[in-house]
Amino acid sequence: MVKKLGIYVHIPFCASKCGYCDFYSLADCDRLMPKYHNALLQHIREASPQLQERHTDSVYFGGGTPSYYGARRICDIFNALKRAGRIYRSAEVTVEVNPDSVRYHDLLQLRSEGVNRLSIGAQSANDDLLRLIGRRHNWRQVVNTVKRARDAGFDNVSLDLIYGLPSQQREDWADTLSRALELEPEHLSCYGLKLEEGTPMYSYKDSPLLPGDDAQADMYLYTVETLRHFGYAQYEISNFARSGRECRHNLKYWQLQDYMGFGPAAASNVGDMRYTYVSSVAQYISGIQNGNNILADYERVDALGRAAEYLMLGMRTVRGVSAKEYHNRYRSDFSPLEELLTEFQRRGWAVREDERWHFTPAGFLLSNPLIGLMLEKQGEHKLSGNPWMDGRDLFSERIELPDGEELFYHSH
Ligand code: SF4
Repeated sequence: MVKKLGIYVHIPFCASKCGYCDFYSLADCDRLMPKYHNALLQHIREASPQLQERHTDSVYFGGGTPSYYGARRICDIFNALKRAGRIYRSAEVTVEVNPDSVRYHDLLQLRSEGVNRLSIGAQSANDDLLRLIGRRHNWRQVVNTVKRARDAGFDNVSLDLIYGLPSQQREDWADTLSRALELEPEHLSCYGLKLEEGTPMYSYKDSPLLPGDDAQADMYLYTVETLRHFGYAQYEISNFARSGRECRHNLKYWQLQDYMGFGPAAASNVGDMRYTYVSSVAQYISGIQNGNNILADYERVDALGRAAEYLMLGMRTVRGVSAKEYHNRYRSDFSPLEELLTEFQRRGWAVREDERWHFTPAGFLLSNPLIGLMLEKQGEHKLSGNPWMDGRDLFSERIELPDGEELFYHSH
């Protein structure tokens, strides 16, 4: 069976930096865009042999702000990918857009080239909070962007929202959620604000204006409950979708499937290799132009490493993990983990359904320490639980796509 692939393209440009953002992106560097574009196109052409080995069923343009980079450039890159690889006509193709940098004409162009999913950076329905966190748009622009997306033919729209903003109370977050629901998106990503060192908003870290852990937890549980009520199933800690509208691309990250990244700071996971490119546009451009190294890290992940990732990433999702899958993939004993999960269940943090274990919303709130305990347990039983590792292909279990997927944009 031919292996499937997700492709991620990083667009490291923004109109300005938001106060909370620690993604790799540059503001005020538009002059680098033409050179970056040529480097990216060259990189894609050069990666054609690797892209040809797999069938691509998801493409994701993230950033940064792809809509600020421009629809014409995004379409150029997508067309280069179509030529270089084997992309299903039915692939999920997502572009992240910000309401202040996308026009109707851009949306029409993206849709006509085969982009079929938009992820809109909405963040909040409170214009004062949007200003406070450095967003360049207001809620009205979010509403207009969704309307224009529908008019342009997009039937798969996701909204990104943030809760736990400075001075935000549950009522304000409830208002944002309900106004987002009025727009009837197919998918919602709701992230709790995390202040990372080095970002402008890090200075709020000890501010009394910031909702505390309990208040953030309250907003999270409210989110899960409200979205469930309105028909959005939680499928990952922060992600909710109408049935069948889970993000296929992001699922690849959590289900240890293959993906290949392009652009600075982009990560790849292909077979047993994992690598990341340098977080520098200038180094990326010159590396591609001169044939120099553009890798920041590169490692071969062994079976034990993959077994740890299986727990870490699987427990982020509502699909969770199973003893059978763990044993089949890693020939490893799940029973010490099952004991721990049974204890989590007793405390209301995990449930077992159809032979699979996953966290409850209360467990998701504690997912970092709980997964830490699982990894500790796994480590303690490394020798007894893993008498041998045979290095077989750990990626043989794939999501089967429905009939009709065998139609590529270009066949070679
Ligand atoms: S638009 Fe997105 S990537 Fe750019 S600074 Fe804001 S949050 Fe970061």
